Amino acid sequence: MRFIRYQQGEDQPRFGWILEDRIGLIDGTPFGEYRRMEANIPLERIRLLAPVTPSKIICVGRNYVEHAREHNSEVPDVPLLFFKPPSAVIGPNEPILLPPQSQQVEQEAELAVVMGKTGRWISPETALEYVLGYTIGIDVTARDLQRRDGQWTRGKGFDTFCPLGPWIETELDAADVLITCRVNDALRQMASTREMVFTVPQLIAFASSVMTLVAGDVILTGTPAGVGPLQSGDMIEVSIDGIGTLRNPVRSELRRMG
Ligand code: MG
Repeated sequence: MRFIRYQQGEDQPRFGWILEDRIGLIDGTPFGEYRRMEANIPLERIRLLAPVTPSKIICVGRNYVEHAREHNSEVPDVPLLFFKPPSAVIGPNEPILLPPQSQQVEQEAELAVVMGKTGRWISPETALEYVLGYTIGIDVTARDLQRRDGQWTRGKGFDTFCPLGPWIETELDAADVLITCRVNDALRQMASTREMVFTVPQLIAFASSVMTLVAGDVILTGTPAGVGPLQSGDMIEVSIDGIGTLRNPVRSELRRMG
């Protein structure tokens, strides 16, 4: 099943589900008891939102060998974790805003895990029982600020730097799916999730040995090689086989303010 969050007109955001080009209301939430209403609303009548509002977004650095290599970095012995703030989340088709503080903003296309249950000290063997499903994430990164600061909070944490969507696919086996990223139709990234250094169950076990993972939390699992600069006017398209395609345009924040 594919869970969405959506808004119809000026109504409150709601959870729903999507079947081809029609959507239906979820009465309740995907994280507890719910009823699935008939999918009878045409997709064009609603606006898709980020499919989840996480309490935290845990990200994994250098989880693909070829990406570590393109930055002349070693693959870490244990997963390298960092955060993005929930305020960075945007939904499908919303613009990524290039902040005036950075001269080098880059895209990182990533598989996003959405937790379905709360847990601590989750074992790798039971980890997938805690997963609601998978969506697509873009770990937008101000590379110059990431390098300058050492700490990654600023370079990774700007508003709009975490597009998520278009929906949460609950039926996916994410161990070997293809991720592709195009910017203005030019292919930048293409790799299978089987090339991850640490698998999804290993990442859940590791992160939950540090902090409680709450239903709705998101884990961005790292990016393959092929990251590159973004300019105002670009269009990013990230596809993951079995999920779909997330599209986000790129704009200058200053132009919006001006
Ligand atoms: Mg990343």
